[in-house]
Amino acid sequence: MKSASRKSGDHEVERSAGGVLIKYDEHDRASEVCLIQVPTRGGNPSWRLPKGWIEPEETPEEAALRETREETGCHGEILSTLSEIDYWYTRRGERGGERIKIQKIVKFYMMRYTSGSIEDHDHEVEEVRWYSFSEALKEISYDAEKRVLQEAIHSWDAHLYRQGLM
Ligand code: ATP
Repeated sequence: MKSASRKSGDHEVERSAGGVLIKYDEHDRASEVCLIQVPTRGGNPSWRLPKGWIEPEETPEEAALRETREETGCHGEILSTLSEIDYWYTRRGERGGERIKIQKIVKFYMMRYTSGSIEDHDHEVEEVRWYSFSEALKEISYDAEKRVLQEAIHSWDAHLYRQGLM
């Protein structure tokens, strides 16, 4: 869901939050990460991490958990804070006309899957899939999200080690 972005000089700033949702399958002892596929104008599938706008009454953590739940159909719990990414894009203003420059800042959290099914994802998302880490690193569309995923994989390994699972 959209909320107002904040004006800052010649551009607007939008803030979103998202999750690197990971599950550990004790059965085959492999870890997987959940990616979403969103529609693109060119038609090429674009795989991304789940994320979305931080509503005015929400903390970034609440927004990350809500957006991850809505977009993937799965619930998670936050294990740690990952890096923030930022990028720029432009869109048309409310009444058409000139294009507005947007700086987008996205905070990501590492999450452990707790419940739910990818079949219950939001209709705005085309597809949701669990990927092995190596597949996910190949598929993910944006380099900045790739770096966040790499960071999450390192902390997930440390998490499994602490749990005695590695
Ligand atoms: P949100 O999911 O936070 O509600 P949104 O769906 O409104 O956001 P974005 O995903 O921020 O919009 O996409 C806006 C533009 O920025 C699109 O053109 C998209 O392709 C591009 N974009 C999205 N993520 C990145 C990124 N990590 N790096 C560079 N460009 C990106």
